[in-house]
Amino acid sequence: MPYNNTKALKSQLDGINLSTTNEITQRIQNYPITKGEILELIKKYDTKSICSLANTIRNTCKNGPITYSRKVFINLINLCRDTCSYCTYKKELSDYDLSFLSKDKALRIARMGKLLRCTEALIVTGERPEQKYPEFREWLKKYDCSSTTEYIEQVSNLILEETGLLPHTNAGTLNYDELSILKKSNVSLGCMLETSSERLSGKNMPHEFAPSKNPRARIRVLENAGKLKIPITTGLLIGIGETLEETIDSLIVIREINHKYGNIQEIIMQNHIPKYNTKMRNYLPPSHDLFLLTICLARIIMPNMNIQVPPNLSPKLYSTYINAGINDWGGISPLTIDFVNPESPWPDIKDVKGATEKAGYRFRGRLAIYPEFVLNKREFIPKNLWNYITPLTDSSGLVKEELN
Ligand code: SF4
Repeated sequence: MPYNNTKALKSQLDGINLSTTNEITQRIQNYPITKGEILELIKKYDTKSICSLANTIRNTCKNGPITYSRKVFINLINLCRDTCSYCTYKKELSDYDLSFLSKDKALRIARMGKLLRCTEALIVTGERPEQKYPEFREWLKKYDCSSTTEYIEQVSNLILEETGLLPHTNAGTLNYDELSILKKSNVSLGCMLETSSERLSGKNMPHEFAPSKNPRARIRVLENAGKLKIPITTGLLIGIGETLEETIDSLIVIREINHKYGNIQEIIMQNHIPKYNTKMRNYLPPSHDLFLLTICLARIIMPNMNIQVPPNLSPKLYSTYINAGINDWGGISPLTIDFVNPESPWPDIKDVKGATEKAGYRFRGRLAIYPEFVLNKREFIPKNLWNYITPLTDSSGLVKEELN
């Protein structure tokens, strides 16, 4: 497939309606849209028309059900070496809600999740807390570990072997060796790019004190995961000071990594909700129109990608996001809260199902690894993990309907 598109899209952009969007869809599938063409599109058309295009592209390129993953959120260690201006996940040693989750407690949560038919154990930690907190280094010794990754490895193996829930870890900028360790027990990993703009790491910007959020560090993780054939979830945080052009650049960076390695399984488009106890509390959240546009652009830039919007961050706007081209609702937990956004409760899964079906789409459970990998990219899955994946899936690569 020609990657540097030279075929002009311009003439096809005139008067978008359903008949021309079909042509544009075909063109975008064959020749990835360029940044210039995207800027042209935005200049010429309003968000409603762009949504219509994104919707057609999703219906053509991702015409299966709209999915979600039934999960438990294992809030393993919420200390963090870094500081992002919008974050409330990170805690200090004196905080009442500090989490040093023992292996026993993590397993208990996974067992309860199993009873509630969850299939994913989302394991989350802050960035390399062992580098900043001697108390945590001391605590790790109880488990014979010298790093967060070693502890995650133990917890992942325990959950996998004892419950069959499939681990998916989000622990920041893991290096090559750490990624290869976790590949053995995690069916996929997560690392949000958030933005490819280095400007946001500058003075007085949200990532000034978070070296792990430097885009170069995050891109390295996504690429190393590609080299190791690890399916990885990434995404953008919208509304932290980036420009629309920078959002386009970020999406194109992800597209290029996926073009090279084929390992990006999903893109989360997450709207920033300013939190009262952060430096960015007075920051305006992204407007609904702007957020919608960025979702559409994700779909238009990567027609075949799984695009997700977390349903707890914009409750009741389900049909709007479906119409903007998403095909996934991400992890939803019937048991645990979203510890990254604790003020935003998960919706009832039945409500999301109802809204999805009302919009005319089927609603299905997926694993923490997408069907594309289960069915067609089997080389991304280590042999030992098939023992856990196979009993959960049907021929579509999704969770068997009777299990979910
Ligand atoms: S790196 Fe993650 S956990 Fe740490 S401060 Fe930033 S957002 Fe919070």
